[in-house]
Amino acid sequence: KYSGPISQHQLRAQTYEARFSEAIQNKEFVVWYQPKYNPYNEKIVGAEALVRWQTPEGMIPPGEFLDVFESDGLIEKLDEYVFRTVCQQQKAWADMGRKLLPVSVNVSRCSLFGQDIVGRYKKIIEECGIDPLYVPIEITESVALANLKIKPIADAFFDAGFHLHMDDFGSGRSSLNGLTVMHFDVVKLDKSLIDSIGNRSGELILNYTMALGKELGKRLVAEGVETESQLSFLKINGCDAIQGYYYSKRLAVNEYERKAYGE
Ligand code: C2E
Ligand code: CA
Ligand code: CA
Repeated sequence: KYSGPISQHQLRAQTYEARFSEAIQNKEFVVWYQPKYNPYNEKIVGAEALVRWQTPEGMIPPGEFLDVFESDGLIEKLDEYVFRTVCQQQKAWADMGRKLLPVSVNVSRCSLFGQDIVGRYKKIIEECGIDPLYVPIEITESVALANLKIKPIADAFFDAGFHLHMDDFGSGRSSLNGLTVMHFDVVKLDKSLIDSIGNRSGELILNYTMALGKELGKRLVAEGVETESQLSFLKINGCDAIQGYYYSKRLAVNEYERKAYGE
């Protein structure tokens, strides 16, 4: 016998799983682009790819289905689909003579430890004939997992020419250790750090975190920047790029194309 909320959850999981293949085939998973800005000249320097599930009944945000696909392994297919979509889009822009800007893609931990992720992604890059430089991989380094386990994968990505971005840095899930061990060239400062701007001890922590990242040669991208005062704090402290509603929310591909490449 089931208690209400649990059966609801299971029902949702079963429905999502049953619909997954069909959803991939019907291209219901849509890639959105949130621009990242250079705050000093206010030009777009790239974007992050964010997935949405566009069902006939409406749009589902990733927070609702990622946990389901992470627990049943379908996330590997979804992450690869998003990656391929971005690679194909970059190829299309290259063919149009656009100067490519990197569009980073998220890779869930489950995908990372799945079947030969680097081999699969390398093959897609080769099929599209683009430079892996233009599709950096965002990974959340977590305390829960030893760096040793990620290291060979990070090394293989690096050897294949990919750039790695450390996602959600400074959130409860991240660890300082990752900064030293891995081939990350970008550190994404988590929204929780940005939200602490205006609070004295929070600002101190952010200051030191940024200084540490810089000292280790990382580029700093701030996430979830919403206000003018957050922006000016980050600029004073030498943040390299800004991603957040202050500049732009996620955009549909055409809208992003217009903003990034102008007319
Ligand atoms: P994330 O990687 O940390 O992505 C940033 C999230 O913050 C996005 O939420 C974005 O819309 C939101 N955001 C950006 N700027 C602001 C801001 O100024 N204020 C606020 N309140 N929010 C802001 P979104 O699109 O709902 O994605 C949620 C999470 O889902 C992502 O967090 C990422 O972990 C995951 N995700 C999205 N796409 C994929 C994917 O293709 N594969 C995997 N594995 N995970 C994905
Ligand atoms: Ca991310
Ligand atoms: Ca993040």
